[in-house]
Amino acid sequence: SILVPNNPIIPYIAGDGIGPEIMRAAMLVWNSAISRVYAGKRKVVWKEIYAGEKAIEIFGDPLPEETIEAIKSHVVSIKSPLTTPVGRGYRSLNVKLRQVLDLYACIRPVKWIKGVPAPVKHPELLDVVIFRENTEDVYAGIEWKKGSQEAKKVIDFLRDTFNLEIRGDSGLGLKPISEFATKRITRKAIQYALENGRKSVTIVHKGNIMKYTEGAFVEWAYEVALNEFEGKVVSERELNEPVSEKLIVKDRIADNMFQQILLEPSEYDIMLLPNLNGDYLSDAVAAQVGGIGLVPGANIGDFVALFEPTHGTAPQLAGKEIANPTSLILSGAMMFDYIGWKEVGSIIRKAVEKTIMDGKMTIDLARKKGVEPLKTTEFAEEIIKNIEE
Ligand code: ATP
Ligand code: MG
Repeated sequence: SILVPNNPIIPYIAGDGIGPEIMRAAMLVWNSAISRVYAGKRKVVWKEIYAGEKAIEIFGDPLPEETIEAIKSHVVSIKSPLTTPVGRGYRSLNVKLRQVLDLYACIRPVKWIKGVPAPVKHPELLDVVIFRENTEDVYAGIEWKKGSQEAKKVIDFLRDTFNLEIRGDSGLGLKPISEFATKRITRKAIQYALENGRKSVTIVHKGNIMKYTEGAFVEWAYEVALNEFEGKVVSERELNEPVSEKLIVKDRIADNMFQQILLEPSEYDIMLLPNLNGDYLSDAVAAQVGGIGLVPGANIGDFVALFEPTHGTAPQLAGKEIANPTSLILSGAMMFDYIGWKEVGSIIRKAVEKTIMDGKMTIDLARKKGVEPLKTTEFAEEIIKNIEE
C-alpha cells in the first residue's frame, strides 16, 4: 500500500444516473467507518470534481482538464458511473478516463457476500481477484468499416504484400498486445498476490488460436513472474503436486477456464487476463456469486488509482433512492486498503455482510429474497449501525 497523510484529500466524482444517490450513501458509510477506527485522529477531506453531465453544465466539457489534473495529483480518487455523451468521438467516458490516466490494471475482487442469492450451490468456494489489462487488445479501438477507403486499403495491402485474400465485404479490426503492457500488469498481479498471501496466479488466454497476441501474453507473463520474482514464484509446469510454499503461476485456455471456474472454483485465486477475456470473465464470475452490481472495482496505474463500481448509471432507477450502493461502498473499502487503512476497509466489508445477512437490502436483492426492501439511504444507515456496534 501507499502512504498518505493523516487527513488526505480524496477527489470524488458524483456521477450520472444513480451516481449521486449511491455516492451520498457510500460517503456516510465511509466516514462512519473512518471515525469508528481512528476516532477523529484521521479523516478524509472529500473534494468534489466533475465529469459527465455535471461537467458539461459547468465546464462545457464532460472530461475537463481540471478533473484529470486533480486525479493525477491526489493519488487516489473515487467515482460513480458516468453517462457517455454522444458525438464526442469516443465510445465510453469511463473507458476514456482510464486511457487518459493510463490506468492499466483493472482489478476486481469477487467473493460471495453471505446472504446474497447466488445461482450456484456453493458460492462460498469462489474467492478470486481479477487483474484485467485495461489499455490494449481489441479495446485499443482500431477498426475499419466494411467498404470504407481504409478497409479497402488494408485489404489491398494484405493481398499485395502477403498474398492474403480477405473478402471485400469484411469489417476489420486489430488486436495489439504488447510485451510492455503485458509485463507491467503481470508485475501488479504478482506483487498483489505476494503481498496478500495468495496461493496462485492463473494466466487466462486463447493462445492456442492467437499465438502472437494471447500466446505471447502468456509467455511474457511467465517471464516476468519467474525472472523478476525469483525464489518467490514457481511455475505449475515444474510442480509434481498442486501445492507449494511459493506462489504458483499457471495458465488456462479461456474456454476451459469458464468451465473450471464453475466446476472447481476453489482451485483459482488471482486471475491475469488480456482486456477482452478479462471483460468476459469478470462478469461471469461476478454472476456466479450473485454479485453483478455488487462487486467493487479499481483501475490502477503506476502513480494513480481510481476506484469505481462495476455497474452503470441505471438511468431508469435514478432519483428514486432505490439503487444498491454496495458496489461503490466496497470500492471505497478497496481504496482504504490501498492507502493502508486496512481496518477501515475490513470494518466496512464486515458491516455490509452483516447487514445483508440480516435480510436488510435494497430492492434488487430484496425482490429475490422475498424480504421488505430498504431505500438506498436506509440501507446505508443499517450498515452504519453495524459499524458503530
Ligand atoms: P449504463 O448505460 O451506464 O451502462 P445501465 O442501465 O446499462 O447504464 P448497468 O450497470 O449496465 O447500467 O445495469 C444494467 C441494469 O442492472 C440496470 O438497468 C439496473 O436495472 C441494474 N442495476 C445496475 N446497477 C444497479 C444498482 N447499483 N442497484 C440496483 N440495480 C442496478
Ligand atoms: Mg450497461
